[in-house]
Amino acid sequence: MDVLSNLKNSGFTFSKKYGQNFLTDEKLLSDIACDAHIGRDDVVLEVGAGAGTLTRALAQKAGKVIAFEIDRSLETTLSHTLRDFDNVTVIYDDVTKFGEEELDALTGKRYKVVANLPYYITTPLLFMFLDRADPPVSLTVMVQKEVAERICATEKKGDYGALSVSVAVRADAEITRIVPRDKFIPAPNVDSAVVNIVLRGKTGAKDDATLYGLIKKAFAMKRKTLTNNLSSGYSVTKPEAEAWLTEAGVKPSARAEELSPAQFVTLSDVIYAKTKNSYRK
Ligand code: SAM
Repeated sequence: MDVLSNLKNSGFTFSKKYGQNFLTDEKLLSDIACDAHIGRDDVVLEVGAGAGTLTRALAQKAGKVIAFEIDRSLETTLSHTLRDFDNVTVIYDDVTKFGEEELDALTGKRYKVVANLPYYITTPLLFMFLDRADPPVSLTVMVQKEVAERICATEKKGDYGALSVSVAVRADAEITRIVPRDKFIPAPNVDSAVVNIVLRGKTGAKDDATLYGLIKKAFAMKRKTLTNNLSSGYSVTKPEAEAWLTEAGVKPSARAEELSPAQFVTLSDVIYAKTKNSYRK
């Protein structure tokens, strides 16, 4: 019995609330597992197993797959789809409830995240993994095409923003494939893309919390200059904000979208030196 008949026979109905848009194209599923560079030495953490089609493609290549699925009504279908695999564990729970230590206990610390992400929590899920003291090796995730473009955008390009810089200071990211909406069941209103994000481990900044705080403050008002955004974000005078920018080699009239990720690190180090003994970080 194919996956769709199985879903139907089990009385399953797709839930918009959980972002349920499933993939069934075997070639595409295998290509996503290839994009993630999965081998027998890898432990894979999948967010949202759905009907288990991507889980199966991953289990064919990985040593072990730990798949989370919030919707227990998928249990019958999942046990059918995954019946031939003894290297898969499905956890019927909300992945966001799991802390670093709990995930490490399940995965053994070194793991790769692969997921066709539920769109309603794409960004919080990305940051749940990116923000970890000990992040995964990589995240290979299907997201809305526009979000993928923002993640991978470079300075001075239209899509470049806080998300692009936040990823770029931690990782190397590239779009590996565009997936049209008609590949999903049911079809969403937007096209998607797979992004491969490979973590570098260190940002290079003296203090990561200062760097992450700076990125948020710098893009708080996109149309304002950095001087204005830093002045309001750190509650300092404009001349003080201008002095920080000048020391970092940045023109005080510049806007956040003109700064490269490396310039954000330099500016963050200047701000850290000035504010480390104050509450302003
Ligand atoms: N991997 C499947 C595929 O590619 O066909 C399903 C992908 S579907 C876009 C996202 C899946 O994530 C759904 O099955 C949904 O129920 C599940 N999900 C949504 N929120 C979740 C959460 N917080 N924790 C675990 N699973 C979640």
